[in-house]
Amino acid sequence: MDAMRQIRIPKGEGSVEVEPGVTWWVLGERLRDTGMGPRVYPTSAPRSTVSGWLAENGVGVGSYEFGWLLQNVLSVEIVGAVGGRSTIEGSEALRHFVGSRGSMGLVVRATLATRRADDDVPVAVLFRDAGDLGKAVTDLDRGGVPLWHLGFLNAAMARARRFETGPVLFGAYPKERSDVIEPALKSVAESHRGTFFLEGRPNAPGSRGSSRRATWGRPPGRVGRWFGANVWRRHYSR
Ligand SMILES: Cc1cc2nc3c(=O)[nH]c(=O)nc-3n(C[C@H](O)[C@H](O)[C@H](O)COP(=O)(O)OP(=O)(O)OC[C@H]3O[C@@H](n4cnc5c(N)ncnc54)[C@H](O)[C@@H]3O)c2cc1C
Repeated sequence: MDAMRQIRIPKGEGSVEVEPGVTWWVLGERLRDTGMGPRVYPTSAPRSTVSGWLAENGVGVGSYEFGWLLQNVLSVEIVGAVGGRSTIEGSEALRHFVGSRGSMGLVVRATLATRRADDDVPVAVLFRDAGDLGKAVTDLDRGGVPLWHLGFLNAAMARARRFETGPVLFGAYPKERSDVIEPALKSVAESHRGTFFLEGRPNAPGSRGSSRRATWGRPPGRVGRWFGANVWRRHYSR
């Protein structure tokens, strides 16, 4: 599939046509030039391909709002086992194909739904233990807080990434939702002994080379930049 890496972005349609060998990272980069992004993508984006994830189906970055990959696929063009191209579209037909691990044919093109991604705000909340983080997630969910993405690192993963604090909740949302989301996140953080970090577009000078270590006593900017470098590169690298 390496030779099949074309991407076509139809104007104003909220979708992208993509060949199977394109990685999710490259797709995100191309879409970013138009202010758009995939609605969902796997955290393995730098290496995994569009066809690989279509064959597996799954949840990933953006699934808090947009659900499974399957729910964001408009059509898939395949070459079947006996040859010949056909297009699969419509939720019922796609449900049988997406996630079928290549058993129903070879993906040669897919049309995926996209979203505006040029004003995403990355956020993070650091917690003292997993119990507090869990309660915060429950509160956010019950409160219907309209984030685009919500994820977490447990304390071991945070430590492995030299982020020596505790469990970390992170997410992103379109800036236009700030009025609703920012106070909700602050309130949830406060209720569960968390520390809230918000950096709208932190391409501040000096952020690249600075230490990624962070502790409870250190300034928020550095923590935000850590997320920029490790979790939200696509938002930070403009
Ligand atoms: C660090 C890491 C993070 C991950 N994060 C996520 C995540 O956030 N969400 C998630 O759901 N999964 C995740 N995964 C799992 C994995 O990344 C996904 O399933 C991934 O998208 C697979 O893509 P790939 O290109 O590596 O496919 P491969 O592993 O190469 O292939 C996967 C399957 O796709 C089939 N296939 C490949 N190309 C085609 C084609 N053209 N037509 C038909 N079938 C084809 C292959 O035969 C195989 O069965 C993660 C994995 C890792 C290692």
